[in-house]
Amino acid sequence: MKLLIVNSGSSSIKFQLLAMEKENVLASGLVERIGETLGYIKCTFFPDTEQERKVEQEEPVANHHAGMLRVIELLCDPKKGIIADTKEINGVGHRVVHGGEDFHQTTLINDAVVKAIEKNIPLAPLHNPPNLDGIRVARELFPDAPQVAVFDTAFHQSMPSCAFLYALPRELYEKHRVRRYGFHGTSHAYVAAECAKLLGKKLADCNLVTVHLGNGSSMTAIKQGKSVDTTLGMTPLEGLVMGTRCGDVDPALHLFLQQNLGFDLPAIDHMLNKESGLKGLCGMNDLRDIHQAVAAGDIWAEHALDVLCYRNRKYLASFLAVLGHTDAIVFTAGIGENDPVVRRESLQGLHNFGIVLDEELNQKRSRTARCISAATSKVKVFVIPTNEELAIARETARLVEG
Ligand code: AMP
Repeated sequence: MKLLIVNSGSSSIKFQLLAMEKENVLASGLVERIGETLGYIKCTFFPDTEQERKVEQEEPVANHHAGMLRVIELLCDPKKGIIADTKEINGVGHRVVHGGEDFHQTTLINDAVVKAIEKNIPLAPLHNPPNLDGIRVARELFPDAPQVAVFDTAFHQSMPSCAFLYALPRELYEKHRVRRYGFHGTSHAYVAAECAKLLGKKLADCNLVTVHLGNGSSMTAIKQGKSVDTTLGMTPLEGLVMGTRCGDVDPALHLFLQQNLGFDLPAIDHMLNKESGLKGLCGMNDLRDIHQAVAAGDIWAEHALDVLCYRNRKYLASFLAVLGHTDAIVFTAGIGENDPVVRRESLQGLHNFGIVLDEELNQKRSRTARCISAATSKVKVFVIPTNEELAIARETARLVEG
């Protein structure tokens, strides 16, 4: 079974073609700067193997339709491509950011599903419209292949009302669905399933805290295999300190900024999403740069690292309280997989909760899943590389196989 996985953003399409028998990636690439004067297209065939080949081009890509056509041309190129015909593609899996309360799981796409995703546009005005563009184009270009929507929010629909309700006038929830939804669900679900395998248990028997630390970050409390709380809220801004996003702030901040500093709402929105987080504190959002700056004595780089790890620690402890017994903590994504300092500092002072890191294992570099806690640690700590494309492909395969 060959599956095409599509992540369609406002000016980009990321894609992967996988052969599901051995879960091999046949091709992986992206189309960027869609709609700009000069677009950029990159495709790697058989990535991470000895036969790896790359195609890179700069050319105008007018819209998502044109972008997807170029992807098909590359995949089906008689000389360089790897499939003869689009009919070889047995299914298309789409990443969709917001399923609101309509989608609790991965869903086969039909007209009603498209309508429901459209209905949720107010909850993700920047993401759902380009996700829908990708779905519409793929339905047109692959009319015979089942299309599947995998939602970032679906995994968290199991949260109880005490975790998802904001303490606001209840009409806001009842009439307008203002509540906490959570995101990164595909990643949290994937690493949780991988962690259960490492623990030798069924996922339904595991209590876990999954810590996705990348440019966007979130932490999820998973009880008996189900999400019971997560740090991102109605939008992907709440909770942890992120690359350029602020995470938790006092909601009255908006009023202060408007009344005293002359900010309007779009300026506040821009600042909280694009100019805050690590970047806001120290001007850098890549941890590798921040560590270098700390070593060179940059005090604001040090503050940024401290605020990041302190917030992680605070949420970790609160999620341990939510779960009671916890089998394991899992670090994943760019920072979680690669930064031993952030992992160590985020677990600092949690000995009383039964968490003991093995610093030698923590420092070891590896691209594979591994345990980094000491043998005496009651709660195991793992680093598990996330793979959202594979997670979407597995979900898609499940529905295509029916
Ligand atoms: P992601 O959004 O999961 O791709 O994560 C991207 C972030 O991971 C970057 O902004 C860096 O802060 C961080 N990152 C990536 N590689 C490393 C590394 N080797 N050491 C520390 N942080 C890293």
